[in-house]
Amino acid sequence: MTALTGLPAISAPLPWQAEAWSRINQQLEDNTLPHALLFVGLQHSGKARLALAMARLLLCKAPSGGLNCGSCHACELSGSGTHGDLRWLQPEEKSRSIKVDQVRDAVAFATRTASFGQRKVLVLAPADAMNTNAANALLKSLEEPSVDTFLLLVCDRLHSVPATIRSRCQIVKLPVPADHACLDWLDKATGDRGESERLLQLAGGMPLLAEAMHSAADAEQLISMRVACRGLLAGKLSVFEAADMLADAPVSDALQQIAAAIRLTLRGSDRKSLGSEAGRRLFYLLDEVVGVQRAVNSGANPNRQLITEVLLEKLHSILGGGDTGDNIGGSTGRPGP
Ligand SMILES: [Zn+2]
Repeated sequence: MTALTGLPAISAPLPWQAEAWSRINQQLEDNTLPHALLFVGLQHSGKARLALAMARLLLCKAPSGGLNCGSCHACELSGSGTHGDLRWLQPEEKSRSIKVDQVRDAVAFATRTASFGQRKVLVLAPADAMNTNAANALLKSLEEPSVDTFLLLVCDRLHSVPATIRSRCQIVKLPVPADHACLDWLDKATGDRGESERLLQLAGGMPLLAEAMHSAADAEQLISMRVACRGLLAGKLSVFEAADMLADAPVSDALQQIAAAIRLTLRGSDRKSLGSEAGRRLFYLLDEVVGVQRAVNSGANPNRQLITEVLLEKLHSILGGGDTGDNIGGSTGRPGP
């Protein structure tokens, strides 16, 4: 969740977003910036930060050096979360989805006149958290954009956003941040390269997750969940040990960690292992986890211990306990028998 109050005066993009950022600035200067942009990039790579920097830049009265100035009235308001022409849509507390009522409300916002008679910005982060009804409601404002209203959408996976929405946005693909860029950036928070390296490794190369493990209120739980999934993947923990470490986490967080572990394994696998029986089973398992995530998002309340154990057991059987002999996931550092 992005907190929109008590922001620093200036919201800058992250170092690895420099190229996308300079393109946006150029379009702004040339007056060719489309009214709807969809930022796509890996989970925990900082897409919402980019949307925030852009929203504040668009609302600022006196941008300077390609960033919001940090001192005009608009910047004060956007920094304290009280700017009437900025609307930030994200799943409400305890929910993982953006509801249709939230979107309808935002569409009404998008069609009315700006309070300051200038631009309005509507951010949806993440856009793939919309259900079909919510997406349909949003389409209206994408089809009939009001002048000087900008829609910024953020998503992890392009194809989880309906095609009707995608086709109306300029798609901005954000690169996977390089480790050295992440480490330089993390060092500013940790003050210690060794610690930055440990956190980034634990976070599977995802810099904002690494930062959260350093400073978030639930940092310990985050670390524990990551250690559990990595331990299972590396063959260092049993299913029960890993499930036990996930037991205190909200079920949606545990599912997210399991899905992340599977994606990490898939990313680290070569084409041959992806096409193998184990590879196919891993894709099916990911579908299954995503399905359970969807059910939980729409209010299902499964037995956490049971569902976590079942999913971890399947993951374990595909990676190591199976009898297929395929070595998918071998690149995650699993020791031999
Ligand atoms: Zn300003």
